[in-house]
This record gives sequence, structure tokens and C-alpha cells, in this order.
Amino acid sequence: MPSEYRVEVALDVPLPATFTYLAAAALPVGARVAVPFGTRRLAGVVTGPGDESADTAKLKAVDALLDDLPPLPASWLELVSFTAAYYHAPIGQVAATALPTALRGAAPVRLNDTRPWRLSSAGRLAEPPAARAKAQRALWQALSCGVLSKDAARAIAGQAGKLLAEWDAAGWLERVDTCWRDAPVAAGPELTAAQAAALAELRGTDGFAAWLLFGVTGSGKTEVYLRLIADTLAEGRQALVLIPEINLTPQLLSRFAARFPSTPIAALHSSLSDGERLNAWVDAWQGRAGIVIGTRLSVFTPLPRLGLVIVDEEHDASFKQQDGVRYHARDLAVWRALKARVPVVLGSATPSLETLYRVETGRYRQILLAERAHASASLPAVRILDVRRQRLAEGLSEMVVDALKAAKRRGELSLVFINRRGFSPVLSCGDCGWTSGCRHCHAKMVLHLSERRLRCHHCGAFEPVPHACPSCGNVDLKPVGHGTQRIEEALARMVPDARVLRIDRDSTSRKAAWDEIYRKVHAGEVDILVGTQMLAKGHDFPALSRVIVVNADAGLYSADYRATERLFSVLTQVAGRAGRADAPGEVLVQTQWPDHPLFAALVAHDTLGYAKTLLAERRIAALPPITHQAILRADAPDIRDANAFLESVRDTLAPPKGVTVLGPVPALMARLAGRERAQLIIESPQRAPLHAFLDAWRPDLDAAARRAGRSLRWSLDVDPQEL
Ligand code: ADP
Ligand code: ZN
Ligand code: ZN
Repeated sequence: MPSEYRVEVALDVPLPATFTYLAAAALPVGARVAVPFGTRRLAGVVTGPGDESADTAKLKAVDALLDDLPPLPASWLELVSFTAAYYHAPIGQVAATALPTALRGAAPVRLNDTRPWRLSSAGRLAEPPAARAKAQRALWQALSCGVLSKDAARAIAGQAGKLLAEWDAAGWLERVDTCWRDAPVAAGPELTAAQAAALAELRGTDGFAAWLLFGVTGSGKTEVYLRLIADTLAEGRQALVLIPEINLTPQLLSRFAARFPSTPIAALHSSLSDGERLNAWVDAWQGRAGIVIGTRLSVFTPLPRLGLVIVDEEHDASFKQQDGVRYHARDLAVWRALKARVPVVLGSATPSLETLYRVETGRYRQILLAERAHASASLPAVRILDVRRQRLAEGLSEMVVDALKAAKRRGELSLVFINRRGFSPVLSCGDCGWTSGCRHCHAKMVLHLSERRLRCHHCGAFEPVPHACPSCGNVDLKPVGHGTQRIEEALARMVPDARVLRIDRDSTSRKAAWDEIYRKVHAGEVDILVGTQMLAKGHDFPALSRVIVVNADAGLYSADYRATERLFSVLTQVAGRAGRADAPGEVLVQTQWPDHPLFAALVAHDTLGYAKTLLAERRIAALPPITHQAILRADAPDIRDANAFLESVRDTLAPPKGVTVLGPVPALMARLAGRERAQLIIESPQRAPLHAFLDAWRPDLDAAARRAGRSLRWSLDVDPQEL
């Protein structure tokens, strides 16, 4: 067949272009196709009509139109193109990132129909299964009562899939198209005055508006989201809810499911299989899911009837993708809302400086929830403990141990929080000062007592614990720093009879672990929880009377200018765990620098005041969010190769006025997994010239990378979150 048509196809290759192919028919924009590329066969997405100037003799033909799915919608392609342009990433790579894994390959996919079942008119006349076939009978009964989803059917009968298929073949069943416009919404609590005022303001806008919902921990932000979502669903429209991975818990999902019992909810979390993720994604795309709730990747879910966007914990660092396409899901969410002309709500107890700055400059509007929703719950009292002249036993001061003992006597639950960032038990030699550095990175190896191993938390390398100092032979090697395991052991010794439960990445790596932790805590089988960042947010433990922060100081004086912002945020979040129920909470913070302004703000719960201080510092230092940054990173086994690449591109193009290119400088983590890392920092007070410069510069980068060879890796990071 003659190939008369031409199409442009986006392919997942590290080149910032689309590719022209011949096609036997005019393929729709957004269709998935398989094409030959070099010696491979790749999947791609048609982005438009092909380049007519390209030489026909050199063009190859599209292999096949994949799938019998409809083409991906124009609004989705627009989001993908914007992401590619803004982050200066190859469009094909962005498209591949934005698609579920099952749609990235060159094999056609088949979709399962996920719509629920009910009895057809023939089914209603059919003879029910015999009473002795208990499971069949129960399933049939459920069907005769109404609409039944596949999941609900599985919960009733183990063989549900097989039975449904048989009954369907017999003509007894039919599929039901879901519509949530009139689906019931369970009643929530009566709103507080502050919530009601917030809601009235949020409802008062038409079309696009970006809101910061700035509410202290426990102020009832989620309740406000639920009300807004109910409005959206009642209009027959869809809501997109983005949350940090750590918050996407069964508890949160069941809160949504309980409020919207008949509305299909697509939850896109990391434990879905590829097939499940595909189904949830297609449900959203086909307008069958009323609510999409998921982590950063969910921002790319096509939603034909998008009516509302919510980003919970908008300050959370996990919204920024740190490899591949380095997008920020919060910022893309705002862009989507703008394009779809719908409101977007960014919620946080500790908003990012980026968002606060946009409020300050009038681009976002702010709503405050200054008090906790629960009538009797007030914010905890924060006390700063100066530990400079204290004798610490395993990092714990006497005051802290006494407070834990007192709480234990009263039968109250306490939380001991260990700030892991840059603080873990490292092995050291008291004689010569040797410490357990990683051979492959600039990080220290961390002692894992239970495995009797040293492990690098940056590159993953591990080795056995040495019996003697490798540098001087001293056999008395001691751990320094406070790991969760050591504190757990020490607490069990120092607080008699206390039942201590440790929660960190090691103890929760099993899937069922969280359920067991919840069960124990709720059954009152725990006196002291010991944990890291994982405990700071998301998980709602009742009746925490006391929160103890063992080591607040890592991050006070760091080379990373964002360290104080993050420290304040995590301390506020963890303090927010205290006093959520009826008992007032108390937070004790140990520090060597009690006079640091961060602590005064923490005691006063003055998040906004501290943010203003930090913004003033950023303004003086000309740092983001006042200015705009991009980082060109390079790494290689030999630092000279990384530097040579950066130097070769630094002067290929004179930056426009206002744009400065700094470096090469070593990355904050200068060595990682056996590779040396360096970077150029590109800064500008205005965004537009920065982007114009990066656009013009990109071909030079590709050319230099080709010359540099295979050992060099490089990436461009726009609005970087890490140095
Ligand atoms: P946030 O998202 O701000 O942390 P939540 O919406 O989770 O706050 O609310 C915190 C706690 O207060 C939850 O236990 C919630 O059930 C409760 N809550 C929220 N709103 C109200 C209200 N209007 N009346 C009573 N309790 C409420
Ligand atoms: Zn030594
Ligand atoms: Zn390492």
C-alpha cells in the first residue's frame, strides 16, 4: 500500500525532537503507534501531521497502530508538550513518563471492562443458584439487590471472576455505566466557623483560581477538600487529588471511600500492578472515575471532566521528580487547573516558600485555618531544651527521660523523633578519628546492628562491621550519632517496663507492617514510638501526649540553603502529632543552639513569621523563589570528565542580560555510587530570559554530550530542589 501520509511521532529516546514517519492513512493525533527506530521497534505517540519537507526516500513507515483505544486527548498532549518545553526535556521521554507502564511498550494492550455488573432482564427471570452452593447463592443475592463491582464481588465469593463470566455468557448480566452526579455523599462533621468561612470563599470563584489553604496541623483541611470534592462530583465533574507517597495510606483512602461510597475512586499508588494501574488510569481517562487520588505521577492522568485540583501537603519534596523528567507535580497541577479553567487548592501547615511568595506577589490567594478543628484540641506547647551542658545518655537528656517516665506512669503514648537527615549511627575510632566513610561516595556508612553491617544510605553499598579500626588497629570502635535502633534499645533500658515500638524504613518494609503497627498502637500495647520522618506526617495516631525531638540540629547550619526551611517544616509536622485528641500535647526539642531564630518561631507556632524571615534572607542572597535557577549536572567516574563537559558548554553561548552561569562546582554530594558529580548553576531574576537561554543552549549540550562519550551522564534540572 502506498504510504501517502506523514505523521510526527514522539519516541522515548534522549533526543529533544519528534520523528517523521510515513503512514498509509491519516493517523489521529494522540494515537499510539509502533515504529522502526534504528534496529529497534519502539512505541510512540502521534503528535501531529508530519514534516512535509523531509526526504521521502529517507523516511520509514509506521509499523502498526497499537491498541483499539481512542487516541490520547489533546489536553493531555498539551500538558506533555508544556512539560517538555518548561523542563527542557525530550517530548518523547515526557510522554513515556506520563503514560502508565503498560502503555509504554510496543505491544498492543487489551483493556478489561471495569464497569460494575447488575442482573439483566433475562437474569432477573433466571433460576437462582441452589442454596447449597453458598458462595454462588450469596453472589447472586448481592446482584439481585443492585449494582456490584468486581472488587465487591470478589469479597463475596472467591470464584467471583469465573462465576460472573459464566453468568455473563448466559446473558444474565449487564454492565452499568457509572455516574456519580447523584451518588450519595455521607454526612461529615458540622464545619467549624473557620472551615465554613474557608469553604464559602473557595466556592465564591468561577473558573481558574489558585488557593493556598494554610491550616495548622489538624485544622480540618481534609474536611474542606471533601466538601469541595462533593460539589465537583455533584456537577458530574472529576476531582484530581495529589498527595505525598507517605500519606497515601489505607486510612486516607477509606476516609474518601466512606464519604463517597458509590463514587468510583481511582487510587494510583505504588503497590498497584501494571495492569491495575492501567485500568485505573483508563477509568479516569474515560470519565468513569469521579476522583483520582495519587502521588506526583498522577498529575499526568487524563481527565475529560476535570473540575477541581487539590495538592495536599504542597510543600512536600516528593512532588519533585529527581531523575528522568525532573518535573514538579505541584507546579504542573496549577498549570493544568489554569488550562482547564478550574480551581486548584494547595494545602499545607508549612507552605513552601515558593507558594508563599506567589501569595505575596498576588498570584495565589490565601485562606487561613488558624485553629484545630476538634473543639478540645489545641496546639501543643513547645519547649526548647538546651543540651549544651547536659550529660546525654545515648543522646537523651535527663529531662527527656524523666518526661518519658512520667508519661509512661500516666499510661500516655509518647513519640521520640529522630531527625535522620544527615544524622545516623556512624562507626568511629576514638583514638585516631577514623569514621566509616563509604568507598563509593562522600557519605558515611551507617551501622545496622541487626544485620551486623555497615550500609551506605546514598549508594546502597554495604560491608561487614570491621573488628578493629582499619586505620590504627584500635579494637574499641564506637558508634556516634543516634540511629533508631540504638535509641530503641536505650529507651527500653532507661524507662522501666516501657513497651517501645520502632518505626522506620527497616521496620516497615513489609507490606503488612503498618497494619500491625496501627493495631498495636490502637490496642494500647505501646508506650513509646521511636521513628524518623515517616512518623512526621500522614499517619494519624491518637492520644500522643508527648513528642520528643532528639536531635534537631542537623540542618541548622547546612550547605544547602533549603535546610532550615525543611527542618522547620518537619519539626512543625512532627509537633503536630501531639495533642490531637483531647489531651493537650507537649513537645520537647533538644538542641545545642537554643538561640537559633527557628526555635523561637517553633515555640510561637509562627510559621508565617519564620517564612517571612527566610524569604527576606533569600531576597538578600538572591536565591529562589525570589530568583530562578536551573542546574546543569554532570557525573562521570573521573571528575575531570564531568568538569571538561561543563567547561566545554559553559562558554558556547553568551547568556542574555540578567542570566548568570556559575561553575563548574562540585555537587553537594560530590561523589555518589562511584561517580564524581559537578554542576553549573544558571540563575536569573526573571524566568523568561532563563528559559530563552536554556532553549537556545540545549543543542550545544546535546552536541557536547555526544562528543564526551558514554562514561558521562548529564541532566538539566529546572527549578531544582536539591543542590
Ligand atoms: P488536616 O487535614 O488539616 O490535618 P483533618 O481534616 O484531617 O485536618 O482534621 C483533623 C481532625 O479533626 C480529624 O480527626 C477530623 O476528623 C477532625 N475534624 C475535622 N473537621 C472537623 C469538624 N468540623 N468537627 C469535628 N471534627 C473535625
Ligand atoms: Zn583508629
Ligand atoms: Zn555510598
